[in-house]
Amino acid sequence: MLTQAPKGTRDILPSEIHKWQYVERVFADICKSYGYREIRIPVFEHTELFQRGVGDTTDIVQKEMYTFLDKGGRSITLRPEGTAGVVRSYIEHGMSSLPQPVKLYYNISAYRYENIQKGRYREFHQFGVEAFGSKGPSIDVEIISMLNMFFEKLGLKNVSLNINSIGCPKCRRAYNDKLKEFLSPILKDLCDNCNARFNRNPLRIIDCKEDRCKKLTAEAPALIDNLCEECREHFEGLKAGLDNLNINYNVDKGIVRGLDYYTRTVFEFVSSNVGTQGTICGGGRYDGLVEICGGPSTPGIGFALGVERLLLEMDSQNISIPEPEGAYIFIATIGEKADRYAERLVYQLRENGISAEKDVMDRSLKAQMKYADKLGVTYTVVLGDEEIESNRAVMRNMKSGEQKDVSLDSILDRLKNNL
Ligand code: ATP
Ligand code: MG
Repeated sequence: MLTQAPKGTRDILPSEIHKWQYVERVFADICKSYGYREIRIPVFEHTELFQRGVGDTTDIVQKEMYTFLDKGGRSITLRPEGTAGVVRSYIEHGMSSLPQPVKLYYNISAYRYENIQKGRYREFHQFGVEAFGSKGPSIDVEIISMLNMFFEKLGLKNVSLNINSIGCPKCRRAYNDKLKEFLSPILKDLCDNCNARFNRNPLRIIDCKEDRCKKLTAEAPALIDNLCEECREHFEGLKAGLDNLNINYNVDKGIVRGLDYYTRTVFEFVSSNVGTQGTICGGGRYDGLVEICGGPSTPGIGFALGVERLLLEMDSQNISIPEPEGAYIFIATIGEKADRYAERLVYQLRENGISAEKDVMDRSLKAQMKYADKLGVTYTVVLGDEEIESNRAVMRNMKSGEQKDVSLDSILDRLKNNL
C-alpha cells in the first residue's frame, strides 16, 4: 500500500515529462494565437456545483464523483471536469461585464471514480477551453478549428471529427415526446439506468454504453431531424464555417455528450485506434449553463481533451517528441581548491542559462568522467591545482573529440557564444 500509488493514478516521471511539456506548450501557443487566456481553478468545489453544472442525470454525477465531507461538514467534490468550475468563476468574478466573448483555456487534473482501462483513469488530465457570450455559430467554428490546428501541429493522423446538434430546450421538448413514444414499448428491455433516465432526461438513454441498450435504441428518432428553425440555421452555419476552413467532419446523429446542459452544437474528435476509449476530445455548446449555475443568461461553448489519451494516440502513431537536452558541460575536479573553483564556475554558467554540472558525490576523477559520459554532456573540463594556478585548462568536446587549451576565465564567454 505504502509504496503503491492509489488505483487509477499514476506518476508522470521525469523520463516522460518532456512529452507532457511539449503538448502543453503547443496547446498554450495555439490558445494564445486564438486569443484565449489561461484560467486556473480549484481542484475541489462545492458538490452542488457539479450536481447542477454537470447535471445529476449524468454518469459523472451519479457514479463517478469523489465526494466527501470536509472537517467543517461541507460536502466537497474533486473536480470531475473543468467547465463547471470555470462557469462558477465567470459568475463569481462578474466576467459578464467584460467585453464579450470571454475566451478562457485551462490545463487541469480531473478525478472520476471509474473502472480502470487503458486510457481511462481515476486521476487524469484535460486541456480545455470555454468561450462565453457568443451565440455562434462563428465561435463554434473557431473552437473546433483550434482542435483541428492542434492535431495538425502535433502531426496526429486518423482523428476524425464528428458533429451533431442536440437542439435547444424548445425543440427538445417536442422531441422528448417523440422519443418517449419510441422508447415506451422497449423500456422493459433497457437497463435500470435507462429506466431511471426515462422521465428525467430520456435523451440520455441514447448515450447508454450498454450493448443491448445501444442495439435497441439504434433506430430511435434523432434530435437533429427534429430541430427548430433557429437551431437548424445554427447547425447550417457551423457546417458552412467548417467547409470554409476545409475541415472534414461527419454528422453523427448519435452524439449526445456526457453533460446535461449541452445545447445545439456537440462534437467529438475520435481516433480510429483506441477502441472504446477512442474519444480524445469532446465538446459542445451550453447556452443554459451559466444561468443554471446562478449567473446571467449567457451563451457558452467549450471542449475538453484527454491528455493521457492524446499521448497514447501519439505514441501509437510513433510521433516523436523532441527530447530535452541534458547537461551541457561537466567540470571535473581533483582536489579541494579545484572543487571550490568549480563551485563558482558552475554557478556562473547556470546563471547564464548554461546547464552545467560538477561532482557532488566525492567521486574519483575516473568516476566523474564516467558519470559525465552517462549524462551525455557536450563538454568536459578537468580542473586540478595546476589548472587553477595557470588559469588554463583543456576543454574537450565529447561529441567531436576536439580539445582546446583555454583560459579558465574564457569558459563562460566561449560557451555563451558557442565558440
Ligand atoms: P467517455 O465516454 O470515454 O467516458 P466522457 O464523455 O466521460 O468520455 P468527457 O467528460 O467529455 O468524457 O471528457 C473529455 C475527455 O476527457 C474525453 O474525451 C477523454 O479524452 C478524457 N477523459 C474522460 N474521462 C477520462 C478518464 N477517466 N481517464 C482518462 N481520460 C478521460
Ligand atoms: Mg465518461
